Amino acid sequence: MTAPLVAPLFDRVAIIGIGLIGSSLARVIRRDSPATHITACARRAETLEAVRRLKIADDTTDDAAAAVKNADLVVLATPLSAYAAIAAQIAPALKSGAIVTDVGSVKEAAIRDIAASLPKGVHFVPGHPVAGTEHSGPEAGFAEMFADRWCILTPPPDTDPAAVAKITALWRLARMKIVQMPAEHHDRVLAVTSHLPHLIAYTIVGTATELGQDLQSEVVAYSAGGFRDFTRIAASDPVMWRDIFLANSEAVLELLQRFSEDLTALQRAIRRGDGDTLHDWFTRTRAIRRSIIEAKQA
Ligand code: NAP
Repeated sequence: MTAPLVAPLFDRVAIIGIGLIGSSLARVIRRDSPATHITACARRAETLEAVRRLKIADDTTDDAAAAVKNADLVVLATPLSAYAAIAAQIAPALKSGAIVTDVGSVKEAAIRDIAASLPKGVHFVPGHPVAGTEHSGPEAGFAEMFADRWCILTPPPDTDPAAVAKITALWRLARMKIVQMPAEHHDRVLAVTSHLPHLIAYTIVGTATELGQDLQSEVVAYSAGGFRDFTRIAASDPVMWRDIFLANSEAVLELLQRFSEDLTALQRAIRRGDGDTLHDWFTRTRAIRRSIIEAKQA
């Protein structure tokens, strides 16, 4: 093996949950920190077999406690609903000074479910790489997925700054832009930018599948008129999204209340033939799209 040009950030990394996000991070570490030893953990034999075939880890195991033994960095990248049980399982096996991070899409629940189990001397830096696709599993991952996207870190105030700096450096390897904010704020922001849009897509596609057979086949045929984008979003992993709505219920429900009030206002404008209200509304939303393009997040 040729010697790496720079010292690796970590000696041994354990990635618990090696699907879309976990495997993409493994590919980044393989690419940019080649001397790091990676242990991948998943439940199913076919997932671990795929990881071996893809050569994105040095070891594979279905035992999370065995995976984290001697690891300097542990990355939790399973669905949120598995966090509490995994944290309890790995806690006794973590080495002192190890850093634990996660990639979960809801942060207050992640902190609640992980932090309580971790022993003193282990540093927890919660994180959320805001990047992904509607696909799942290790075959779907790719290192470039994170490039130019935001990674939000939500370390509680007493978190070890050196651990935060290392996790920041890790996501920089993935070419992410890093920002820190309180977990509660993260969850409210993501409710707007990600969770509500997914709920709307799930609703619309669900409504379309309830239509009569004739109409349904026409919906598929003419889906380019906006519906197709919703079907892509509504094809996202059902387990992940079930967990997100259950974990971030408070922020999502508050937002849904406002959303349904706005929907009622638009409904009223359509019923009354109030074109000015509709035009003003759509002009404002067009400006938001332009600002997203300017921020290179389109
Ligand atoms: P994924 O592709 O479905 O992969 C999930 C992985 O977790 C699989 O390897 C699965 O193993 C493993 N797993 C599930 N339960 C487990 C358990 N109890 N013990 C050990 N391993 C377990 O999911 P993903 O899209 O990468 O999402 C993972 C996390 O990233 C979620 O918390 C999600 O909120 C977050 N996230 C996702 C996205 C996105 O766009 N997808 C973006 C940002 C953050 P098996 O195959 O053996 O079941």
